[in-house]
Amino acid sequence: MNTLDTQSFSSLLNIAYLLSAILFIFGLKGLTHPKTAIRGNLLGALGMAIATITCLFDQNIVSFQGIIIGIGIGTLIGIICAVKIQMTGMPQLVATFNGLGGAASALIALGEFFGKTSTNATLSVPVLIAIIFSAYIGTVTLWGSLLAFGKLQGLVRDRNIPGLPVINLLLTIGVLVLGTMLVITPTTSIMLALIGAATLIGVLFVLPIGGADMPVVIALLNALSGLAASTTGFVLSNNILIIAGSLVGASGLILTFIMCKAMNRSLANVLFAGTQSSQNNIDSDDVYQGKITETSAEEVAMLLDGVQQVLIVPGYGLAVAQAQHNVRDLANCLEKNDVNVEYGIHPVAGRMPGHMNVLLAEADIPYEKLIEMDTINTRMEAVDVAIIIGANDVVNPFANTDPNSPIAGMPIIDVSKARTIVVIKRSLSPGFAGIPNPLFAADNTLMFFGDGKKALVELVAAVKDQ
Ligand code: NDP
Repeated sequence: MNTLDTQSFSSLLNIAYLLSAILFIFGLKGLTHPKTAIRGNLLGALGMAIATITCLFDQNIVSFQGIIIGIGIGTLIGIICAVKIQMTGMPQLVATFNGLGGAASALIALGEFFGKTSTNATLSVPVLIAIIFSAYIGTVTLWGSLLAFGKLQGLVRDRNIPGLPVINLLLTIGVLVLGTMLVITPTTSIMLALIGAATLIGVLFVLPIGGADMPVVIALLNALSGLAASTTGFVLSNNILIIAGSLVGASGLILTFIMCKAMNRSLANVLFAGTQSSQNNIDSDDVYQGKITETSAEEVAMLLDGVQQVLIVPGYGLAVAQAQHNVRDLANCLEKNDVNVEYGIHPVAGRMPGHMNVLLAEADIPYEKLIEMDTINTRMEAVDVAIIIGANDVVNPFANTDPNSPIAGMPIIDVSKARTIVVIKRSLSPGFAGIPNPLFAADNTLMFFGDGKKALVELVAAVKDQ
């Protein structure tokens, strides 16, 4: 190619990257509303396809073979995940994706570093700084995400490590010193020490965070994976990676703050206060003994006869039971009897941001029927029957009354003001935060024990039999 050709080719590549960036932005905009979400998703995917194909022609980045092998492996893993992963396993999948994103960024940065230092090629200071950031943030994201996966999967318990803030401070100072040393003398041993410190920080930053704060951690790790990708874009001088990484980083950070608000916590408090569950010693027998009123499908059907306003509060157990279509069946039956059915959505219900919205959308439940927590709480006195399906922490009054509770200060869907409350769950077992729930023992609460799906099938049959 002559000089002019090379220039035009490079301009074409940049135009294609710009088009991808525009598609990403419109894709994100589309994702802000369920009605436009599918279009948003497609636009984002199209942007990613254009960016990937452009990379194929951008020989400065990697070889054709490398990209094609990567696409092959990625497609295979993607298909296996899409087919195998259950809806309830999505949060763990998201945690894994975040971790893999971080790992990819760190590996690219390290590849660039070791490749250049082994051949004694010079690395400019800005590139060196980008490499250090990418390797550090990517490694923290990888290990933090693996630990988050372990916690969501119930493999790792929250741990309060004595003196952790001091350890973290020392590690952070160590990383700053090692980073500065690397800029002055980029050697393998210093880089390995930095990776070791980043690994420890990743593990120690997630290990003590627990109780109900995991939503914040997941959103933050998502933001970090974007930040790592963005810094890797600087390493590779790839504009689209910088833009896409920044979009992920910024949207992840916005989500982190939304989640913090939903938990009524500051980010600093979530990250540095440690787990509080050990301070909560409330015995479930004290809360429940002699105070639980059991009910049956027939009794609940009678209760629902002639009411005007029913509120359904879905939680994690609904996702476990995969009972979203049965919820829709119940709503259809009630609506035929002129009952107004609405859904109270707590921002951290389930195990991932937006979990309940996705679940209910799957069953074609109209989006206008999904009412946010703050709004529904103002209307609770008009609710005749609140049906809680597989939710626990998000309706637990201890959040307001027990300052030592792991969910202390978290706003809840305050169903206690509804005339009658029906709770569908299998037992009196606690939810994610591991604490008893006095709502189950309240005078106006009836416990309908059973698997969410089975209980709803029985209830729909009983309502139809009326
Ligand atoms: P919870 O985890 O508090 O409670 C779920 C309840 O569902 C359990 O008490 C369980 O009781 C019940 N359940 C489980 N399986 C079934 C089933 N098959 N049928 C019926 N019930 C079932 O859920 P919430 O949604 O109320 O709260 C979410 C919690 O998860 C919060 O603490 C939140 O902070 C945390 N979290 C949220 C994330 C997010 O991003 N949304 C991420 C990570 C954590 P039983 O065993 O008796 O049936």
